[in-house]
Amino acid sequence: MAYKKPLYEEVKNTLDNVGKGMCLAKWTQVTTHLHTGHNHSCHHPNTHKVSEAEIARNPSALHNTLFKKQKRKEMLQGARPTECDYCWNVEDNSDLYSDRIFKSSEDWSWPLADQIINSNWRDVMLRLHLVMLVILNVHIVHLHFLHNGWKKFNNMGDMIQLINLTT
Ligand code: SF4
Repeated sequence: MAYKKPLYEEVKNTLDNVGKGMCLAKWTQVTTHLHTGHNHSCHHPNTHKVSEAEIARNPSALHNTLFKKQKRKEMLQGARPTECDYCWNVEDNSDLYSDRIFKSSEDWSWPLADQIINSNWRDVMLRLHLVMLVILNVHIVHLHFLHNGWKKFNNMGDMIQLINLTT
């Protein structure tokens, strides 16, 4: 029997009350591959293409793609998105915590639990936490930034300027 840590138990119970597939990382973490225009949340599922049309309509689509919103919808409605099978394999074959619990317990996720659980799947995060993986040629730049309040990108130039400021 695996050791049960109180915080992880609280997080697991809270998430499981929504559904056995609920995971805050689908909202709070993104890895963006700027060289391919793909992203994923978290880093376990396959990447998917970010639509330029979606970004033109709303720059938050850099993270909040329609595809990802559909996965969030599944989670909020009690389903387990197939793309998150990394975690389902852990949960279905052991009594260990999966990354669903670990990532949802992080201080960049757990304080947002109520807001996320009570959100509409169409909503985007008001507080943005981005983990961006940028691969340019052979250089890997790992950006990790957190800022309070929604940053509205007016265009890709603003976005790139912000990236430059955070490197
Ligand atoms: S359920 Fe697992 S694979 Fe899916 S977003 Fe959460 S941590 Fe990642």
